[in-house]
Amino acid sequence: MKFSTLAIRSGQSPDPTTGAVSFPIYQTSTYAQEEPAQHKGFCYSRTDNPTRKALENNIAALENAKYGVCFASGLAAVNTVLNLLKSGDHVIAPDDLYGGSYRIFSEVYTKYGIEFTFVDQTNLSQVQGALKENTKVIWIETPSNPLLKISDIKALSVIASNHGCLSVVDNTFASPYLQHPLELGAHIVLHSTTKYLSGHSDIIGGALVTNNSDLFEKLKFYQNAVGAIPGPQDCYLVLRGIKTLPLRMDKHCDNTKTIAAFLTQHSSVKRVYYPGLESHPGHHIAKLQMKNFGGMVSFELKTEGKGAAIFAKNVQLFLLGESLGTVVSLVNHPATMTHASIPEDVRSQNGISNGLLRLSVGCEDVEDLIDDLDQALNAAGQNALKKIA
Ligand SMILES: *Cc1c(COP(=O)(O)O)cnc(C)c1O
Repeated sequence: MKFSTLAIRSGQSPDPTTGAVSFPIYQTSTYAQEEPAQHKGFCYSRTDNPTRKALENNIAALENAKYGVCFASGLAAVNTVLNLLKSGDHVIAPDDLYGGSYRIFSEVYTKYGIEFTFVDQTNLSQVQGALKENTKVIWIETPSNPLLKISDIKALSVIASNHGCLSVVDNTFASPYLQHPLELGAHIVLHSTTKYLSGHSDIIGGALVTNNSDLFEKLKFYQNAVGAIPGPQDCYLVLRGIKTLPLRMDKHCDNTKTIAAFLTQHSSVKRVYYPGLESHPGHHIAKLQMKNFGGMVSFELKTEGKGAAIFAKNVQLFLLGESLGTVVSLVNHPATMTHASIPEDVRSQNGISNGLLRLSVGCEDVEDLIDDLDQALNAAGQNALKKIA
């Protein structure tokens, strides 16, 4: 079956007792057993819950995977991958990793003796050079945050497999509609379902998918043993969001393409980061591994930090906020928001200047979005220049 059909139908069939088309929210902690240890597949909702199972099967189908495992947040999913490791193991991760993943790596798991090396993964020789005998995971995030760098999933997965280690792809920014890392050789795919999969900024959740039955057994074990599971109501909302994922993603991609073109020609804008632009260094790889270029675009203002503050104050439709991947358009100022915990010198070394803004383009009418950006950009250009003068 094709993607849209899978999104709407897989993992769910009408409720056998009532015929309800909308998959029920099984709001229960436990299940009546016929005899001790004789049950209908469910014994306790930390271990398994029908609504969660429907979501797990659904997300697996979207990634063309055999197995899915869902979590209470994207970071709980990140944590579960790290549970596979032991003290003395080594992980190679991108230098512009999602901030929360960077934090759990560097502030939680280094404490337990796991080592992390951060490299520019768009440069394959840097990844090769970072491999060590104890390297167990190459952690991949593409497109990256906030500069939308594109790394080559296939090439990185070959490096991982040749070294006998796992490649894990955080596919949150692309969503399974645009990118299928398992088909490119990855072993595990991770999602923050908080973003495009649920799509309406109303839940926090995470998921892992794999085709490897041994890995699945281990992930399932840690899901139950550690216990960071999503509640049935949240699973229901993700299942509902996914039904319109293809429709929303098409709109996100179209709107973002139009906005990237608008930003490129605006006099207040110094530089635009969007993998759909031919000038983007990862454009050709994005074209090979993605169906479209996604709903995120970042740009730098000529008037830098001062301009960014004025821009953020003046936007009206774009809401100033963390997060992404929702029908509502959001703007983020990485230097003071999502990436504020990174020291300024390291930040600017990695290209995250004070004048950088990141847009998560929503599904509103693109003309309204452009009008909003235009007035805020004009204010940021003129007022900041006045103040500098
Ligand atoms: C948001 C996000 C996460 C973490 O997910 P939560 O649901 O917020 O815990 C991980 N990776 C990426 C790329 C994200 O955007």
